[in-house]
Amino acid sequence: MALTDPSRRLQAMPPYMFAELEKKIADKRAAGIDVISLGIGDPDHPTYPHVVEAMQRAVADRGNQNYPSNRGREEFREAFSDFYRNRFGVDIDPEDEVIPAIGAKECIYNLCFAFLDPGDVALASDPGYPVYTGGPILAGAEAVLLPLKEELGFAPDLDAIDQGTAERARLLFLNYPNNPSGAIVPDGLFEKVVDFARENEILVVHDNAYSETTYDGYVAPSFLATPGAKEVGVEVFSLSKGYNMTGWRVGAILGNAEAISTYWRLKTNVDSGLFEAIQLAAVAALDGPSGPLEEMNAIYARRRDLVVDTLRAIGVDVESPKGTIYVWAPVPEGYTSTSFCEKVLEEAAVVISPGSMYGRSGEGYFRISLTTPDERLSEALERMREHLAQA
Ligand SMILES: *Cc1c(COP(=O)(O)O)cnc(C)c1O
Repeated sequence: MALTDPSRRLQAMPPYMFAELEKKIADKRAAGIDVISLGIGDPDHPTYPHVVEAMQRAVADRGNQNYPSNRGREEFREAFSDFYRNRFGVDIDPEDEVIPAIGAKECIYNLCFAFLDPGDVALASDPGYPVYTGGPILAGAEAVLLPLKEELGFAPDLDAIDQGTAERARLLFLNYPNNPSGAIVPDGLFEKVVDFARENEILVVHDNAYSETTYDGYVAPSFLATPGAKEVGVEVFSLSKGYNMTGWRVGAILGNAEAISTYWRLKTNVDSGLFEAIQLAAVAALDGPSGPLEEMNAIYARRRDLVVDTLRAIGVDVESPKGTIYVWAPVPEGYTSTSFCEKVLEEAAVVISPGSMYGRSGEGYFRISLTTPDERLSEALERMREHLAQA
């Protein structure tokens, strides 16, 4: 082993497939070409003013400047308990059924270390958020992909999981509204998941990053509203996308008290909790008016319609999503995810994400993010319409 060789666990991570695409983007920009990116899902609008103001007050308060506790401030746990009751009809005991997370990514990653040993399996939605596979691999365990079937409304086929895999599985990662497919939870799926988890003794981790970002009157449920869900699972709630707070790093884990306690035990060895000023800003976000959220959703819905109309006009057969900040569409005949995205970059100087970036089952699709300012998005779509008319 050489001095700087990465650990075997890190070497086991899949290679970063899009280095080449990124290099092409960098080369184009260096050559003075105006590349517009519709790739990344990071809100372009600012955090809501009442949240920023709460943070400004909290950061100046001497009482918030020491080590936080990993259990979180009482106000934080109470605010989540109230929010889950009012918004989802779910009872959360603020004493032991919720603690802060330093974003959903931290939480999902650390859950892998809290629950997985070598030989164990985590079942990971595919396509899905990359940490569902990266977390298990780094924890020395195995990620088994659960293909989300378009014909099932982007649900996994739980009956197709073989007995041996189900026996080794300790975690199951799900996410609705879903990144990248934009799908909402199909009817009856959460109920089936609870039965499956009970039968096979698997902890369900529902990644709830998008419940507040929905359109056309659709209201997304919490997994925890499913009967029996709290016995078999936890939900990871993130404020990143809905509240324009990606940079703040704040979320929470809610649900099964023993699972949360195990996660807490792991975290006491890893980090020192979430900055209390940020906890208080999160309280302001959850307690605050819903107006700003509704305005954001109206902006995304308008952009979504623009994207869907343009794609249909160039012959792409796309569904209009009811949630998330993404449009997920099949690539035209004769292309792979990567070759189509390369063509769009070459000809229109627009960056879109190859579906294969989100797992094997993402091959054959591409993703467009709705977080680009209106004029730039319009410009990008105009270019796509012009250059890809007969793609
Ligand atoms: C953006 C995103 C996250 C990241 O959430 P953070 O709270 O910012 O870490 C997690 N899961 C999904 C599905 C996402 O799209």
